[in-house]
Amino acid sequence: MKNTVNVDVAIVGGGIAGLWVLNRLKALGYSVILLESEALGAGQTSKAQGIIHGGTKYALQGMMTSAAQSISTMPERWKQCLAGQGEVDLSKVQILSKQQYLWSPGTFSGKIGGFLASMTLNSQVKLLKREEFPLIFQNEDFKGQVYELDEMVIDMPSLIRELVRPNQELIFKMDPFRIEQLHFNDAQQLDEMVVSAEPLEPITIKAQKYIFTAGAGNEILLNALKNKEVAMQRRPLHMVMMKIPTSHPLYAHCLGMSATPRITITTHVAEDRQAIWYLGGQLAEEGVTRDQASQIQIAKEELHVLFPWIDFSEAQFASFFVDRVEGLQEEGKRPDSCVLKNLENIMVAWPTKFALAPKLGEEIVAALGPLEKHVGDVRALRAWPMPAVVKPIWDELL
Ligand SMILES: Cc1cc2nc3c(=O)[nH]c(=O)nc-3n(C[C@H](O)[C@H](O)[C@H](O)COP(=O)(O)OP(=O)(O)OC[C@H]3O[C@@H](n4cnc5c(N)ncnc54)[C@H](O)[C@@H]3O)c2cc1C
Repeated sequence: MKNTVNVDVAIVGGGIAGLWVLNRLKALGYSVILLESEALGAGQTSKAQGIIHGGTKYALQGMMTSAAQSISTMPERWKQCLAGQGEVDLSKVQILSKQQYLWSPGTFSGKIGGFLASMTLNSQVKLLKREEFPLIFQNEDFKGQVYELDEMVIDMPSLIRELVRPNQELIFKMDPFRIEQLHFNDAQQLDEMVVSAEPLEPITIKAQKYIFTAGAGNEILLNALKNKEVAMQRRPLHMVMMKIPTSHPLYAHCLGMSATPRITITTHVAEDRQAIWYLGGQLAEEGVTRDQASQIQIAKEELHVLFPWIDFSEAQFASFFVDRVEGLQEEGKRPDSCVLKNLENIMVAWPTKFALAPKLGEEIVAALGPLEKHVGDVRALRAWPMPAVVKPIWDELL
């Protein structure tokens, strides 16, 4: 039919989850398309700090947790991909830092000190000597300790671009889908999706499997499904960014009193080549109840306490609110791993962390089961535009 597209798999949502799965399924020989309603990476993915967590952050109470265990093999899988030898070729993605640091303004003591010491045995973490500290801590006013963690930090815009580059002919921009565009049959299977991109004619998508990786946009599907087993949660953050005229690159968590780092700092480069410090951790979690002016004021005070030897008076600040969107957990806790719900011919997925994308991809491939592979027919989408790759949030706000 003229206005019908036939594929093995249709993916909705072009953040890390959708783009990763698109790459995996194409490599496995499935006919697959991805539909995005805004810009690629426009949800949480472009706002991530870029840390490929290995789990140490989830063990700050001084013991191995299930979340730490589940993510512990991810750095190695990403390293292979970044070297061009993994399941997805990420050899052109920019690595911002080969390691993340964990620092304490004083000494690491008690349970966490013992735990970190035990971790040094398997070389995931290393206690640094003063001369090995990142430059920013090589100041006589710094009295603390620093560990090096085997966790890379990558540039998210370049990650999105590299996942998109080989698949441009498979990615299409559509208007956000509405419930009435999802046509279910009596067996509760999704028969077809009618998608539109005004002013073009609507198109019917027919696929064997539909994978929804639309982050917060998955809620539209959940409302249509009315299935209590599939639900999502939002955990809000109030992130802060600072543009600094002189560059002090830093990629580090500061140990606080709780299981969440007191502050997590990553450094990025703005369009005008100035450095951006991007601030998350407890500052961002507790900041959700503050307005923007108060959040920026608290961030300035925190930086002054943690880095009294640095003059931040020339820095420009901005903040914004963003939700982490995940599969629903008891009491709204962070899921220990990625979440994939498989219902008839629909899958709904949230990676929980972008670092878990390889694990989510693997689970989706396994859940597809013995799906037949066909040559797809996407001619009806030929005139449809491709969505842009989103601009980094610091270039929007600073
Ligand atoms: C501030 C912040 C920092 C983070 N830092 C890290 C980190 O350092 N390391 C880490 O591992 N994880 C981090 N995370 C978590 C990580 O970013 C997310 O787990 C991950 O990006 C989620 O990806 P996703 O593809 O599921 O969703 P999203 O990135 O939200 O993508 C969903 C996509 O679907 C599209 N969409 C929405 N509705 C529709 C619709 N109706 N139709 C079509 N398309 C639609 C959106 O436009 C978007 O492009 C961070 C998260 C936040 C918020």
